[in-house]
Amino acid sequence: MARRSISLLAPAVAIVLLFSVVTGQLNFLVPQLSHKGQMMGLLSSSTLTQGLKTSYAASESSSQPHWAVASAVVVALAARNLRKVATKAKTKKQQLRDMTAPDTADAVREERKKGAKNVKGGSKMQRFFSVRNRKFWDFTVWPRTYFKRVWEKKDWLYAALFGLIHAGAFCAPFYFSWDALAVGFVGYVITGMLGITLSYHRQLAHLSFKSPKVVEYFMAYCGALAMQSHPINWVSSHRHHHGATDTANDVHSPKDGFWWSHAGWLLDQKGTWMRVDKSNAEDLSKQWFYRFLQKTYPLHAIVLPIVGLYCWGGLPYVLWGFFARVVWTWHITWAVNSVSHVWGFQDWNTGDISMNNWLIGILAFGEGWHNNHHAFETSCRHGLKWWQIDMTWYTIKLLESVGLAWDLKYPSEAKKRKLSWDADEAASAAIA
Ligand SMILES: [Zn+2]
Ligand SMILES: [Zn+2]
Repeated sequence: MARRSISLLAPAVAIVLLFSVVTGQLNFLVPQLSHKGQMMGLLSSSTLTQGLKTSYAASESSSQPHWAVASAVVVALAARNLRKVATKAKTKKQQLRDMTAPDTADAVREERKKGAKNVKGGSKMQRFFSVRNRKFWDFTVWPRTYFKRVWEKKDWLYAALFGLIHAGAFCAPFYFSWDALAVGFVGYVITGMLGITLSYHRQLAHLSFKSPKVVEYFMAYCGALAMQSHPINWVSSHRHHHGATDTANDVHSPKDGFWWSHAGWLLDQKGTWMRVDKSNAEDLSKQWFYRFLQKTYPLHAIVLPIVGLYCWGGLPYVLWGFFARVVWTWHITWAVNSVSHVWGFQDWNTGDISMNNWLIGILAFGEGWHNNHHAFETSCRHGLKWWQIDMTWYTIKLLESVGLAWDLKYPSEAKKRKLSWDADEAASAAIA
């Protein structure tokens, strides 16, 4: 429900806020909205309408009117959309399941035309990323058709949202200041590392360590700020990825095309039919906090960050602290799924095409040691060698040292032998 609601809400929310902060014209917009809302029943709740009016009245005497009015409009729109979406979500979900689940996923992949085996410039990139254990891009690929396909309404809305956020990021350099850049960088560390890699990925998706609930929820909240969906959805998709890595059932394998694995999969509801099933994240959906984040997700991912940053530092902070930061963190996370499944080296015989990639290792706070990760999914440490920089693991160790993390999981010796490239070691593991 929440994913659908964000797809409906986000473009409207972002347009309203962008317009208000860029032009400062929200003052004259609001009376129209309020009037129309009453005329057309746009705001069915009289409390909401009254709240909007009150905000507007307050804004006339306030020195910073825009953000207060904008937030009232946004919250009103959010409440309206959430109600509307809730009634339709169930039937739509069933329709999607009926429409998209193929008899066998392999057959669907075979129906697509096989692509060229060599990616342009691929071997140069491979040399850049690896001096040993090289795996060149020689895998059979079945590239997806991105444009000549049926686009669901939700696909269009996601594309519009992505375009809008990228457009905002493009504006950021025109409003450059060192403190705005610093705000963006700190936001990248808080949402990208504490939120996505430490919380969403290592703690929630793979249960690689435990911590007090209050710490767990705080970190998960940082993840919601990264605008990569709420924890239940993110974790479910990621567990689907591990359950079928680089097979036809994978949510985002580069064997379906490099762009597909990077971001194309996010714009194709039909092509990622397996994501409808969220039963693999029931451990999260049982907890009130994650259901709360699911229900109110747009508020945390979009509304509060934009309003807060605008109050703090005006337009430059919004452009750097939200738009540029979200886009940067998106592409870093997406590169784990694309670049780290294409270029790098394999220390372990995982049977998939996951790679250890030093650049993504650095930029994605340790997640680029992705072959290590696919070998030992539950390990809280991804950079297994001393030189494989893994900022997320260092942070988990820091939490452990002050008693805020425990039960840290690491690769077992038996599994290390089993996945070794050394034939003798692997054979002895098989016998044992
Ligand atoms: Zn994982
Ligand atoms: Zn992967």
